[in-house]
Amino acid sequence: MKAIVWMHRDLRLADHPALCGALATVAEGVASRVEVVYAWSDCVYGDWMPGQAQQGWIYEHLQDVLLRLSEYGVRLRVTRQAPSVYVARARGVHGVHFNDPLLPAARQEADRLCREATHRGIAVTQYSGDLLHDPGCIRTQQGNPYSVFTPFSRRFREQVPDEQCEPLAVDWSGGYARGGAGAEAGGGTARARVCAETAHALAHRAQEDLDALGLHAQHIGARPLEASFEVGEAAAHRRLETFAEGPIMGYADRRNWPHHDGTSRLSPYLAIGVLSPRQVFTAVLRARNAAASDADARGVETYVQELIWREFAYHLLHHFPGTPSEPLRLEWSRFPWRDDPAAYVAWQQGRTGFPIVDAGMRQLSQTGWMHNRVRMITASFLTKDLMISWQQGAQWFWHSLIDADLASNTLGWQWAGGCGADAQPYIRIFNPETQLRKHDPDGRYVRTWIHELGDSAYPAPMVDHAVARGRALGAYTSFRKKLRA
Ligand SMILES: Cc1cc2nc3c(=O)[nH]c(=O)nc-3n(C[C@H](O)[C@H](O)[C@H](O)COP(=O)(O)OP(=O)(O)OC[C@H]3O[C@@H](n4cnc5c(N)ncnc54)[C@H](O)[C@@H]3O)c2cc1C
Repeated sequence: MKAIVWMHRDLRLADHPALCGALATVAEGVASRVEVVYAWSDCVYGDWMPGQAQQGWIYEHLQDVLLRLSEYGVRLRVTRQAPSVYVARARGVHGVHFNDPLLPAARQEADRLCREATHRGIAVTQYSGDLLHDPGCIRTQQGNPYSVFTPFSRRFREQVPDEQCEPLAVDWSGGYARGGAGAEAGGGTARARVCAETAHALAHRAQEDLDALGLHAQHIGARPLEASFEVGEAAAHRRLETFAEGPIMGYADRRNWPHHDGTSRLSPYLAIGVLSPRQVFTAVLRARNAAASDADARGVETYVQELIWREFAYHLLHHFPGTPSEPLRLEWSRFPWRDDPAAYVAWQQGRTGFPIVDAGMRQLSQTGWMHNRVRMITASFLTKDLMISWQQGAQWFWHSLIDADLASNTLGWQWAGGCGADAQPYIRIFNPETQLRKHDPDGRYVRTWIHELGDSAYPAPMVDHAVARGRALGAYTSFRKKLRA
């Protein structure tokens, strides 16, 4: 009898509660082996199948996972079937284990899976693993979800003790030992060591399944990404350790400089679960203990606050699952956004004539990532200067980001569009020139991404910012009047 682990946005082997749970059933002798399943299906993603950039990133990490699993004698099954269908068709299943899915469609699929398994007498176990807290747990005194960050953050810090954030050690020793090419000496109490041929055969079959998905094409299209982000769980941990041992101390001061490597750049790993937030938090706690000055401590605390923003984004997505496509403040669905395909394309291509906007949009298309400050500036430009809807912006980011994350992307775009939780007041409109002077004063960032800056090939500004600002404010004022009438 096998124990199935459904992996979704948790593509890692360490601190993986569902994998731990399944391995424990093997160690106890109630299951004889573990099978890990990854489902590439709209039953898991709904309308939000990963975009082009992230497909390549997922492909690469599935390769990393399948290779490492095969060294333990476990085959990764990659399928287009919904997990509920896969389990219904599988034979000899003792139990199904998975970490709580966070995406709305995946939560519905989890319900179907539970029903299907229960019907067949298969035990289902769900685990918390991809957030520091369960998204339904933190509530106001009246029992409602929070829709403002500061009180959420305060309650979060009261309610989530540091020790609750310890990562789990995954124990393979009850039935598995690492073999294959990378085998270590020893191997604990393993029943059998996997020989190199078996590991190779398992990896080969899993690779064939994976290639059949067609994500490979995206992977080739996305080659330049490799220069920006190293692939794999080991690389993610190296990045985390390097950041937590040094740059985190200066984070409060340097996180707004887009030319500087002052943020952690862990978002691509967190987005698909190569790192768990508990692993990040634990490294941050070590940094907190090592802080040698007030400035260091401020850096660490500011960083903790960003991790709580991520938790807040999931809290909102949990309670308001429709928000990736509709505003949290529903009255905003009637806001008169402009339909301007040519302007939208100029924004996508980084040809607006505003260097800080164009540099950000080019960084996005060339690397699949954009600095947070510049995400805010480019989003403000689209929704305010061009008055194009936040949904169109969110769609493009979803398509282009390797760290595309439904919760954070929705939060960021609704904030910029002025229609979500903690929304930036509509009247606050970023001036791209001022932002450039403040955050990239010597122009290093813009020159990195815009090679033709300063020559005639670079376009003139597509709007007069002062006029565009006036237009946005006018639209907002009359919209508010209509709402009140
Ligand atoms: C319009 C817009 C769209 C965004 N879309 C995404 C997205 O699709 N995926 C994504 O991961 N982030 C998104 N963000 C949030 C933020 O820009 C990125 O998380 C950050 O730039 C990632 O870089 P980093 O890992 O170096 O962040 P750091 O500054 O090192 O922060 C550490 C971690 O905290 C979390 N975090 C930081 N800022 C935020 C935030 N504002 N909201 C939620 N979590 C945060 C991320 O997980 C990040 O990896 C968006 C922000 C905006 C304004």
